[in-house]
Amino acid sequence: MTNKKIPSEKCERAQELHEILQRANYQYYVLDNPELPDAEYDRRLRELQELEQEFPELVTADSPTQRVGAEPLSSFAEVRHEVPMLSLDNAFDDEELLEFDRRVRDRLNSKEAVEYACEPKLDGIAISLLYRDGVLERAATRGDGTTGEDITQNVRTIGSVPLRLLDNGVPEVLEVRGEIYMPKEGFAELNKKAAEAGEKTFVNPRNAAAGSLRQLDSRITAKRPLQLCAYGVGLVEGATLPGKHTEILQQLNQWGFRINSEMAVAENIQACIDYHQKLGEKREQLPYDIDGIVFKVNDIGLQRRLGFVARAPRWAMAYKFPAQEEMTELLDVEFQVGRTGAVTPVARLKPVFVGGVTVSNATLHNRDEIERLGVKIGDTVVIRRAGDVIPQVVSVVESKRPKNARAIEFPTHCPVCASPVESTPGEAVARCSGGLICKAQRKQAIKHFASRKAMDIDGLGDKLVEQLVDEGLLHSVSGLYHLKLEELVELERMGQKSAQNLLDALEHSKETTLPKFLYALGIREVGEATARNLARYYGDLEPLMQADEESLQEVEDVGPVVAHFVAEFFQQPHAQEEIEALRQSGVHWEPEEQGGEEQPLSGQTWVLTGKLETLSRSEAKDYLQRLGAKVAGSVSANTDSVVAGPGAGSKLNKARELDIPVMDEDELLTMLRERGFEI
Ligand SMILES: [Zn+2]
Repeated sequence: MTNKKIPSEKCERAQELHEILQRANYQYYVLDNPELPDAEYDRRLRELQELEQEFPELVTADSPTQRVGAEPLSSFAEVRHEVPMLSLDNAFDDEELLEFDRRVRDRLNSKEAVEYACEPKLDGIAISLLYRDGVLERAATRGDGTTGEDITQNVRTIGSVPLRLLDNGVPEVLEVRGEIYMPKEGFAELNKKAAEAGEKTFVNPRNAAAGSLRQLDSRITAKRPLQLCAYGVGLVEGATLPGKHTEILQQLNQWGFRINSEMAVAENIQACIDYHQKLGEKREQLPYDIDGIVFKVNDIGLQRRLGFVARAPRWAMAYKFPAQEEMTELLDVEFQVGRTGAVTPVARLKPVFVGGVTVSNATLHNRDEIERLGVKIGDTVVIRRAGDVIPQVVSVVESKRPKNARAIEFPTHCPVCASPVESTPGEAVARCSGGLICKAQRKQAIKHFASRKAMDIDGLGDKLVEQLVDEGLLHSVSGLYHLKLEELVELERMGQKSAQNLLDALEHSKETTLPKFLYALGIREVGEATARNLARYYGDLEPLMQADEESLQEVEDVGPVVAHFVAEFFQQPHAQEEIEALRQSGVHWEPEEQGGEEQPLSGQTWVLTGKLETLSRSEAKDYLQRLGAKVAGSVSANTDSVVAGPGAGSKLNKARELDIPVMDEDELLTMLRERGFEI
């Protein structure tokens, strides 16, 4: 091979990639605060690998392609891995996976199909657990693959890590490898608590898991909902393990390790592709984040024959899913006005492919969120899109902030109707005060009224509603039932036939049910379930319209806030006129059967006081209400039961005075579990 001269721009690019990747490594492994999304990191690493392949002289000892991770933190003791913890090669499409299978069979000199073990690749932290005579001796992170950090104290706090192996006949020395991760539910709960306490929230479950494992105080780790899933073994002495990877995992399972319940055996590479497809569809429903599927040659003998190349085994491949996080530029922020007037900042983005689709908008939620992110127009931001969830801006890449980045200004007046924007203390959402004067709110109210779970008006889509309001044909919800054929056919893209179909659908929608009608009115905080409860409790509309806040709170699931919104809604003259107009047009329903099935605590009034440890106050309330109880704020002679935690004061004293039964949180939990809740 002739020594190709390296063009200077290639040299410079390689140097640039070194710096980017080293910085990313440091943020990921040392700071637990990655700035670069994984997919971006992978792409840069690949680019460097390709450059180095083309010009091998570019490979230096300190190149990021030459190691797996970064220096461990100095505050944890270092651990040397007897058997290096390798990384896996990645495939990004079917062709690359087929190519992997071809390489495997070529090397084995085999025409036969190779059997593979298939496992979801959990998005967590790789870990090594060393057992001597069946007792956990040491837990370490992967670190750079050769040297990791001793995090034994923290790992001991994780329930799914066996401190002693079950069963007899365990090897003298057994090193188990697995992933420590945080399930989605636990992550959501952790972030909710952090937000309530005004603390910093985590960007995603993996960051939360990494942050939790790196606590120097293991008592903090102990409170975090971490789990271990075992996926392999390293050092083994004094025993022979089974001959297949999946059998080894079954053995680990018998020794007390959680293994992935989705694990499967594929008899050839096509079955692997099918498995990847199937899990891809299931990805959002899984209780944990996965970023791909790991395929391993199942036969350990064949694995040994295949061996390793550089840092990765030749017998395994991680087939990645489309990344759920990507980087892009925030071009502008616009403010949208919703049905209840909520003013929502929407990020306009330079289009980016993320989570399998091209995204050009993402929600910024509210003013607090903008402040929390510290985001400015012109910033490079990380976008996350998981499943059907609205894409979100999760973080800002501050090192990429341009000089001319602009602060985001929250409007003081509605961008649609110019009414003042108001915020209620304690509420993050700012609202346009224009009510139904506001075209934006009117459009949203009509869209909601027509939607499938409400009046279910076929053929009245969002675009048509916009058009009708903009053309001045529709000024209110009840106006829908006064639309005329001759007006409709004048509209752009509207033929005689579709106009008639719409009128038929409107006519058809007049026969409805009380719950659907209540839901369709779009009262704040009244979703389908609450609408159903209100209908069942009051039986018909008139008694509900007359109900005061106190009476409304007797309804299952209705607390003071919802009661207030409902009562306030029906007191508005405008709402009363609209309802009357709708009924005049012929909207009707059968009265509901009142009551329905009796619930275990219905008719009872409960009071919560003091601090709860396991449940939050609102969770406890929610459970009690689901059992039919009313949860009140103060103790009186009408109170049936009081739940008192540590720090309970005057309410507890009053309960004792009045001889009202008092229970602590454990007793409450026991009662709830007996009623079938899994807490
Ligand atoms: Zn407005």
